[in-house]
Amino acid sequence: MTKQTMNFQAEVAQLLHLVTHSLYSNKEIFLRELISNASDACDKLRFEAINNSGLYENDSELKVKVTFDKDAKTLTITDNGIGLSQQEAIDNLGTIAKSGTKDFVSKLTGDQKADSNLIGQFGVGFYSGFIVADKITVESRRAGLPADQAVRWVSDGGASGGGAFEVESITREARGTSVILHLRDDAQDYAQAWKVKGIINKYSDHISLPIQMEKEEWKDGELINPSDENGGRQPGAMVKTGEWETVNKANAIWSRAKKDITQEQYDDFYKQISHDFEAPLAHTHNRVEGSTEYTQLLYIPGKAPVDLYNRDHKAGLKLYVKRVFIMDDAEALLPSYLRFVKGVVDSADLPLNVSRELLQESRDVKAIRDGNTKRVLSMLETLAKNDKLPEAGADGVTDVVSAEEKAEQEANVGKYSKFYAEFGAVLKEGLGEDFANKDRLSKLLRFASSTTDSVSVSLADYKARMKEGQEAIYYITADTLAAAKNSPQLEVFKKKGIEVLLMTDRVDEWALNYLHDFDGTPLQSVAKGAVDLGKLQDEAEKKAAEEAAEAFKPLLAKLKEALKDKADDVRVTTRLVDSPACLVVQDHGMSTQLARMLKQAGQ
Ligand code: ADP
Ligand code: MG
Repeated sequence: MTKQTMNFQAEVAQLLHLVTHSLYSNKEIFLRELISNASDACDKLRFEAINNSGLYENDSELKVKVTFDKDAKTLTITDNGIGLSQQEAIDNLGTIAKSGTKDFVSKLTGDQKADSNLIGQFGVGFYSGFIVADKITVESRRAGLPADQAVRWVSDGGASGGGAFEVESITREARGTSVILHLRDDAQDYAQAWKVKGIINKYSDHISLPIQMEKEEWKDGELINPSDENGGRQPGAMVKTGEWETVNKANAIWSRAKKDITQEQYDDFYKQISHDFEAPLAHTHNRVEGSTEYTQLLYIPGKAPVDLYNRDHKAGLKLYVKRVFIMDDAEALLPSYLRFVKGVVDSADLPLNVSRELLQESRDVKAIRDGNTKRVLSMLETLAKNDKLPEAGADGVTDVVSAEEKAEQEANVGKYSKFYAEFGAVLKEGLGEDFANKDRLSKLLRFASSTTDSVSVSLADYKARMKEGQEAIYYITADTLAAAKNSPQLEVFKKKGIEVLLMTDRVDEWALNYLHDFDGTPLQSVAKGAVDLGKLQDEAEKKAAEEAAEAFKPLLAKLKEALKDKADDVRVTTRLVDSPACLVVQDHGMSTQLARMLKQAGQ
């Protein structure tokens, strides 16, 4: 094929114009896009070679090399992947095949500002090279084709007007593709090793292919005048050594099989992404298949960050698409009440150029979010189950377990309590936020109670200990544990030996609005309305109360009159044992605790 000049498809020309005019603040994404293409090309080769191993041409170590030449002002990304035939170069680098991109381009208004906003959120693939290059040369040979059927593709991205590219045949021994960027004057930074390495670490660390750069070494300058104080040397320089080094970690830990990953490696990865020094409490690692395919690697930290309750607290999940980093803090991947979870989601379905806005609307993202939520809840359920060592059964015999199982059980003791002390209050937000999982969440709640000091009583524990005839789960909210414990409202419950849950988290009051009952048993505040102890009250007590109410009628009327601006009603009560009087709120009234909170907030 002799040299030919061809025009870009109209949409490409339009896109190129925008790329070169509007992506100034986002320059570095070009490298992510080009490395991702190189990685795709290697994936494609691997796939085709399954049925045709000859395609490897005795070179099956797939990799990406990034080189630069300061003098020539070029940056080159080379892969030994599938390569492009001449026709493929024309088709794939001159048109936009993806319907998504076409749609995108058709949405552009021509208003530069609005468009640049849009395009900033949208990856532009190969064409993003033109952000930093005023000319791109692609040289490629498709795997399996003879060396003299390679192709060279050159374009200035439409800078010369018209929007055209040239293609010609060349001879190229090496299989695969080199993308040579002729750097613009204002993009010379990208011909420096530290800069390029920094970008690779940021965006492409977890590409599972090695990304290699030529090693550089500091070389002292020439000796000019040995008697000189500074050694008499000219300034030195970095010189290439001819050796290659892999600059990415090249191990997307989540893309490896579970059995090949040690606990220590899981922990190290957690520390790397969370900046936590301590190991996490638990992790879950799964490849989810089905209509939405993704890999999740999620961790539960052992310690809450200081800003957990700040409005601008960052979500802890990183989103990758096929091992290419897309974004940090992907809040759409988990509900807000699980914002303490750290980890990675790698989707096979989302487009590389997905933006936060698009994430919110994506159906795949919704499926991922639901899947993540379920996994986190089951991790918590497992921790909760293993929080204490299994108790001996009624016959005094514990289940027989292997030494290994026993060690594992022991290692997990206390983890859920630790988790709950750090994150329990956040978890409760889920009662109001995630109705679908309310049942599971309510089983994960833990409280202090009038009979247990530690925050360790689950609603199920409570139910199991309920007195015969007790029809409600009783609780009291207060600012502190001491205040709750010494509340006069507890007196009758203490006397009758009825356990009362003590709730002291600020969020409790709000969260309980969403939890009316547990497993069919209503939750009832001991500080609201008349306490109806139902069957727990014996006939004699009931009668005495009725008589007292009758006898004290005149006094009650007087008290009511005296307190008319302060209290709605004054009643005789059976709830007190030692104290003469206490304040309660109406059944459906705002609790004193909530009222105080609102007052503090200035409402
Ligand atoms: P996408 O990667 O989403 O398909 P791009 O604009 O990044 O879109 O790339 C366009 C096409 O160019 C790719 O689909 C592929 O066919 C081809 N291509 C780009 N880079 C390479 C490469 N390094 N090796 C082989 N083909 C490539
Ligand atoms: Mg691409």
